[in-house]
Amino acid sequence: MSRIVIVGGGAAGLELASILGRSVNRQDEVILVEGETHHYWKPRFHEIAAGTFDNDLDTLCYFSHGARNGYIHYQGWMTDIKREEKQLIVSKPNGETDFITYDYLVIAIGAISNDFATQGAQEHCLFLDTPEQARSSWLQISSLLRSGYQRTINIVGAGATGLELAAELAKVSARLEANPHAAKLTINLIEAADRVLPNSPLKMSRQAQLMLEKYDINIMLNTRIASVEQLGMTTSDGLTIGADIQFWAAGIKAPNWLKNIGGLESNNANQLMVNQTLASTLDPNIFALGDCASIPQDDGLMVPPKAQAANRAAVHLAKSLSGLIEGKQLTPFIYKDGGMVVAIGHNFAISTMMNDKLILKGRLVRRLYDTIFRLHQKTVSGVFTMSRLIIAKRLKCIFQPG
Ligand SMILES: Cc1cc2nc3c(=O)[nH]c(=O)nc-3n(C[C@H](O)[C@H](O)[C@H](O)COP(=O)(O)OP(=O)(O)OC[C@H]3O[C@@H](n4cnc5c(N)ncnc54)[C@H](O)[C@@H]3O)c2cc1C
Repeated sequence: MSRIVIVGGGAAGLELASILGRSVNRQDEVILVEGETHHYWKPRFHEIAAGTFDNDLDTLCYFSHGARNGYIHYQGWMTDIKREEKQLIVSKPNGETDFITYDYLVIAIGAISNDFATQGAQEHCLFLDTPEQARSSWLQISSLLRSGYQRTINIVGAGATGLELAAELAKVSARLEANPHAAKLTINLIEAADRVLPNSPLKMSRQAQLMLEKYDINIMLNTRIASVEQLGMTTSDGLTIGADIQFWAAGIKAPNWLKNIGGLESNNANQLMVNQTLASTLDPNIFALGDCASIPQDDGLMVPPKAQAANRAAVHLAKSLSGLIEGKQLTPFIYKDGGMVVAIGHNFAISTMMNDKLILKGRLVRRLYDTIFRLHQKTVSGVFTMSRLIIAKRLKCIFQPG
């Protein structure tokens, strides 16, 4: 009998737990250690923050899902590893500490925002790293919208997260235009690089910028934030950008406590270093994938921190780990990037394809963005449940009031 313990039930960990739970022999055990009770698809956290997320249809309860899919959900937060004893140390919701023994440990705890130690960022910015942070952001935004007058929201970082958040907030504000008591929002999207989506092809950045300008989003390029205060930010040139609410969405890193955990190797962004097989460089029984892992590829580049990469690594590791339990060799994870889709509001998205040679945009591409979430749902819950949820969502959109 083998016990596989997976830590983190996000884009990577939940897919891995679901596939393994359904496929391993009955005597083997799959345990998913996750602090939350419900799974939310992280690329939609900006919708929770903007109050446009569907809580009924787009979440999943780990406990009951695990019972139906052959894994056990253990609610708790990993805090450390004792590698000699092959034990994971977990903090339970009631504050008690527990120890979980493993034969194979997979770490998939994702990443958090990197504020690059900017003074005041932690105290005065909102972050979209957890569902709780996203929910609490919506409470503040909802209250701001109800407070009337002209209000300002600063968003630092014009990568996918910042850009999607800015567009969603602009849409929400536009929908409230008919209400004379609702606040009018000015949205400042602040970026240190000379273009939005700085890691994407130039053409994609230009298309995205045009669309953001149509939404009246104020784009501030070549603007580096030096410090954050309670009601504004100061740039490295000494300019003050006032705001009522401020978000930090620039850059990611793995949490600080993960750095060299249990003596394992990690990089500057605290990500655990793994081989192409996804096994950690120093311990063949510990694996890492998703945003918390630094995964090398043949061309010398690292696998990017994207939902699509996390999903593909999970599907790969499920097969490879099942083989290992049966006495086979691990196989290398070769990542083929399928392009990138960035949603700008509910009816428009931009995408790169064919190694960035093709740029697509429009309503249909927005459906493609949803497809990535639906494929995740299919892997996790099966094609029947995914289809049922798509139909339920369509019907809800047609029949819901207002
Ligand atoms: C607003 C937003 C928009 C985004 N848009 C896109 C996009 O358009 N396209 C794209 O490809 N990517 C996008 N991303 C990035 C994408 O969400 C991540 O790349 C992806 O979710 C990484 O998957 P993961 O499994 O590594 O981590 P996650 O999905 O973050 O999952 C990590 C899980 O680990 C759990 N966890 C954390 N710490 C512990 C612990 N100590 N113990 C137990 N459990 C723990 C968390 O609760 C979480 O459930 C976006 C991200 C954000 C925030």
